[in-house]
Amino acid sequence: MEADSKKWRWQGTNRQQQALNTAEAAITVRGVGNSLRGNLDPEDERPVISLIHGNSSDFPRFRTSSAAEDAIIDALKSAKYNHYTPTVGLLPSRSAVADYLNKDLPYKLSPENVYLTAGCGQAIEVAFTVLAQPGNNILLPRPGFPHYEVIAGREGLEVRHFDLLSEQDWEVDLEAVEALADNNTVAMVIINPGSPCGNVYSYNQLKKVAEMARKHGIIVIADEAFAYMTFGVTPFVPMGVFGALVPVITLGSISKRWMVPGWRMGWLVTNDPTGLLQDSGIVEAIREYLSTSTDPSSFTQAAIPQILENTKEEFFSNILNILRDAADVCYGEIQDIPCITCPKKPECALFMMVKLNVSVLEDINDDMDFCLKLAREESILVLPGVAVGMKNWLRITFGIEPATLEVSFGRIKAFCQRHAKKQ
Ligand SMILES: *Cc1c(COP(=O)(O)O)cnc(C)c1O
Repeated sequence: MEADSKKWRWQGTNRQQQALNTAEAAITVRGVGNSLRGNLDPEDERPVISLIHGNSSDFPRFRTSSAAEDAIIDALKSAKYNHYTPTVGLLPSRSAVADYLNKDLPYKLSPENVYLTAGCGQAIEVAFTVLAQPGNNILLPRPGFPHYEVIAGREGLEVRHFDLLSEQDWEVDLEAVEALADNNTVAMVIINPGSPCGNVYSYNQLKKVAEMARKHGIIVIADEAFAYMTFGVTPFVPMGVFGALVPVITLGSISKRWMVPGWRMGWLVTNDPTGLLQDSGIVEAIREYLSTSTDPSSFTQAAIPQILENTKEEFFSNILNILRDAADVCYGEIQDIPCITCPKKPECALFMMVKLNVSVLEDINDDMDFCLKLAREESILVLPGVAVGMKNWLRITFGIEPATLEVSFGRIKAFCQRHAKKQ
């Protein structure tokens, strides 16, 4: 019997199809990574080095703290956490996250302000789903974290980009925010400590952002995935500090600071001392969304109080020292390569943005071409800036073993010399 092919064909809703079209059109980090890998030379016997990933957990030097490992084991072995958890998260763990954040806030969060999510990634989904009402738009930084564009596309939330200014320490272009915001703008996203630029916003810069958001009546979504991972002169200030000025939804996780992105443990926090988020119904919408979404696993949630309280300062300072050295090595090596420049030495996180000057290169058209040829000829994977909205830039991660970093830059230098325009 012949099957009716029509019957079996998936008929997506308009919204789903629209999202698929958007995803197809968008250049995703994963998609570009796959193209680069596809262009590797199988004859090259040297190890392939990836400077694309934002996950350093594979390297022995970045192993998570023993306190975090013990916390998971204790939670599991206690046999107390095999049940379903409340959809908003286990109360003692929400309380621990509130305490963790309260250390740097001028008011006190209560456990009710904290919702546990499967990493910061799910926290983004929760926030965007709740905010995506028909006609609404959201302001995103460029360059930024491409997951935002993908989720906004899926939820039908219109995206408008404001630039981060490369010549001004990657500050927010507030004039652009002013020009973009209208009555349908619901929120703006700030990623601080900064990724992929490696910048840290000062108290005063954040205050200006808060004032701008207040002026336009828009919520600030503060992506603090790299909270406290700063190793330069500017200290990390949580956006929640300005909660009395403007409602702030803070997104965070243990993925980066503890180097355990696979544990899928994060949070969404409403910094709402004035009660605006509560009164507008957003809090209720968050709770409702979470009542049917997938929760982080029970024992990972249960481990949170011990992870946050017992991890020694030494663990953090050791990681930050490694990252500071790695950023120094990268920055120094880049000075020696004429076709690339880094406007600002990274002060945080794992990435830096590097400007590519194709005019001094012989046969390289743009950042994509550069990265494809670099993969082919040197087995080095670097993300072209187009994947994060910045044509003719490169995004480089320095969160790898320092020795491997030096090998990488040796190969990048050889590549650039080979392709340099002859005088
Ligand atoms: C890694 C990252 C996330 C996602 O964090 P997870 O906890 O791994 O889901 C969100 N935002 C930024 C800026 C990140 O770098």
